[in-house]
Amino acid sequence: MTDGSAPPTPMSAAEFVPDTLSLPDLAEASLTCRGCPLFVDTTQTVFGEGTRTAAMMLVGEQPGDQEDRKGHVFVGPAGRVLWECVEDAGIDRNDLYVTNAVKHFKHETTGKRRLHKKPNTGEIEACHPWIEAELRAVHATVIVALGATAARSLLGRSVPIAASRGASFEVAGAPVVVTYHPSAVLRADEAAREMRAAIVDDLRAASELARR
Ligand code: SF4
Repeated sequence: MTDGSAPPTPMSAAEFVPDTLSLPDLAEASLTCRGCPLFVDTTQTVFGEGTRTAAMMLVGEQPGDQEDRKGHVFVGPAGRVLWECVEDAGIDRNDLYVTNAVKHFKHETTGKRRLHKKPNTGEIEACHPWIEAELRAVHATVIVALGATAARSLLGRSVPIAASRGASFEVAGAPVVVTYHPSAVLRADEAAREMRAAIVDDLRAASELARR
């Protein structure tokens, strides 16, 4: 049974993404994206950052509270973990391009606190045109998916993170290394040290792939 009304239009950022390989132009256009409802009640779009000639592209989930306020990727607690892991893996962060699968901060407000909410499949897919544009612009040799949302966005399907570490995936002709999101280290108790070591190992493996 239907009520005769048209099916809802799928959410998508596609109409907001300009046809350009210029990262500054893409970043500027993303500020006015209304491809899904996540722009509501946020400070700004948080677009990817880094060099267009980066051999490695790191993709996280979405901006957090501090990223939303400051307008930069990975500047909060998870970012501290990420940058320590990058350094421990012997990677120069100036050689990276770093972005998120979803460009706005999904959250719920409790009192004065804004608590992270995981983006759903519709929101991940809606934001995917921005990732596609970044992949075209950066042309990285290897891509690192940090966590389940990034893997879902890049691979187009959900994969278990622990079991996908070290597996072969590819997107846009580049290998995709799947690892934990650094925020998982912050949430883990006894497993935190092990998880952090796993991220460092996976970043090191990605760096070796990028050099081939
Ligand atoms: S989350 Fe992505 S698709 Fe949704 S409004 Fe923000 S930039 Fe656009």
